[in-house]
Amino acid sequence: MTILKVRAVVFDIDDTLMPEREYVRSGYEHVSNWLAPRISLKANQLQGELWAIFDSEHRGRAYNRLLEIHGIDDALLAQECVQIYREHAPDVKLAESVQDVLAWCRSQGPVGVVSDGPLGMQSAKARALGLAEQGLHVVLSDELGGRAAWKPSPAGMLEVCRRMRILPRDAVYVGDNPAKDFLAAHLAGMAAIRFRTAGQLHASSEPEPGAEADIEIRELSQLRSVLEYV
Ligand SMILES: [Mg+2]
Repeated sequence: MTILKVRAVVFDIDDTLMPEREYVRSGYEHVSNWLAPRISLKANQLQGELWAIFDSEHRGRAYNRLLEIHGIDDALLAQECVQIYREHAPDVKLAESVQDVLAWCRSQGPVGVVSDGPLGMQSAKARALGLAEQGLHVVLSDELGGRAAWKPSPAGMLEVCRRMRILPRDAVYVGDNPAKDFLAAHLAGMAAIRFRTAGQLHASSEPEPGAEADIEIRELSQLRSVLEYV
């Protein structure tokens, strides 16, 4: 088995520290409760419809599609739904098994987080999960220069290493998305671990040649056996 020698571990949030579907569930619930009285429908019906859209090709414009289904042509209302989704205080928490892994990593060295996405949304997520309170160095790439700083840009990786006072070559990034996570880590000079488990949005996608992770794990608890702190 490959063993990575490290001084610090950096985690992704969505589908790594927390299942992305948990966040989506919280957001859909919130938006449905807000929207239902405005279009005279039941919130649980809207939630069901949103999940059906989520698993279809319309995921990227879910609220436009939802309104379309009900014959409502109102781009502004769809836009308001997006804003409410992104700005809601999510009802999400770290699983106990994840807390255990973070506690072990923290006992060994600094722990970081690098996450992409609209700043307001990602900071609400990080707050709900209590990441900074647990002593994690949290870098939301959006605050480093908008979308241009999102992975696969190495900007977030370099910034988190700077904050942890760790050289990139002594750090490893743990993420789930083969389109960007491992490439970003490698561009920064860090090692990369793919966490792949059922239910993740990218569980069945594969990286382009050259964008592979160094190691793949199926449980975050496996970090204890693939990492050697030096
Ligand atoms: Mg992710």
